[in-house]
Amino acid sequence: MMVWTFLVQQPAYFIGLMAVLGLLVGSFLNVVAHRLPIMLERQWRQEAQQMLGLPTEEPAQFNLCWPASHCPRCKHAIRAWENIPLLSYLVLGGRCAACKQPIGARYPVVEVVCALLSVAVVWHSGPGLEALVLLALTWSLLALSLIDLDQQLLPDVLVLPTLWLGLTVNAFGVVVPLFDALWGAVAGYLSLWTVYWVFKLLTGKEGMGYGDFKLLALIGAWGGWQVVPLSLLLSSVIGVVAGLCVLRLRRQSVGTAIAFGPYLAIAGWIAVLWGDEIHAFYLQLFGM
Ligand SMILES: [Zn+2]
Repeated sequence: MMVWTFLVQQPAYFIGLMAVLGLLVGSFLNVVAHRLPIMLERQWRQEAQQMLGLPTEEPAQFNLCWPASHCPRCKHAIRAWENIPLLSYLVLGGRCAACKQPIGARYPVVEVVCALLSVAVVWHSGPGLEALVLLALTWSLLALSLIDLDQQLLPDVLVLPTLWLGLTVNAFGVVVPLFDALWGAVAGYLSLWTVYWVFKLLTGKEGMGYGDFKLLALIGAWGGWQVVPLSLLLSSVIGVVAGLCVLRLRRQSVGTAIAFGPYLAIAGWIAVLWGDEIHAFYLQLFGM
C-alpha cells in the first residue's frame, strides 16, 4: 500500500511507470498479433480435418510462449538483452544481431504507441480502478487493430472476453452505469448488423464482417449507448481519411477491402474516454 500511496502522491513517477509498462505490454501485443492468428488457423485446420474424417497430423507445439522468439531469416534465438522494448531496437540499429537483416519498424512503433496510449489512460482517469480497467480495454483494442490490419480478422477469443469484462466492470458502475452499458452492447451490435443487411440486400455484397458488429457491441458495453453513434461517426471520418491515404499509396481501386476494425477501435477508444467532452463541445457549438 505504501508504494500505491507514493505513486498517487507523485503523478510524474506514476506516469513514467505507466510508460514503461506500456512499452512492455506493447512488446507482448506484437507477439499476440503475430502468433494468435497462426494459432487460430492451426486450430481451425485441425477441427476441419476432424470433421471431414481426414487424418490429422500432430502439429509441433506453437503458442504465445513457444517457440522462443527468433529471427525469421537466420533463426537466431533472440537473447534477453535483444528483447528489451524499444531500447534493443535502437541499440541494434533496427537489425538482427546475427544476420543484420532489418527488423520491422512496426515492432518499436507498436511499443511506443502502446506506451503513449497507456499514459493517456492514466492521464485521463487518474490512478485508480477506472484507469486499470481502461488499460485492459486499450491493450485489447490495440491487439485487435493489429490483427485486423494484418488478417482482416477480429478473433472472438479477444473480442468476447473484452466485451464481458466491460459489462462486468460496469455492473459496479466503474465507467458507466450497467443500464447504459447493456443497451450500449445491444445498440452497438444491432446498428452495424442493420447496416450490413441493408447494404447486402441492396448491393448483394458484404460491406463488413460480423467481427465489426461485436467490436461495436464491445465499445458500447464499455462506454454506454451514448458512445455508439459517436464511435460510428468518428470511425467513418477516420476510415475515409485513412482509406484515401492507403489507396493513394498503394494505388488500389476503391473496391479493395480494407479492415474497418482499426478505425472502429480508434473511434471507440476516443469515444469511451472523451465522449462526454466531445458531446459537451457539440452542444456548445449549436448553442444548446
Ligand atoms: Zn537474423
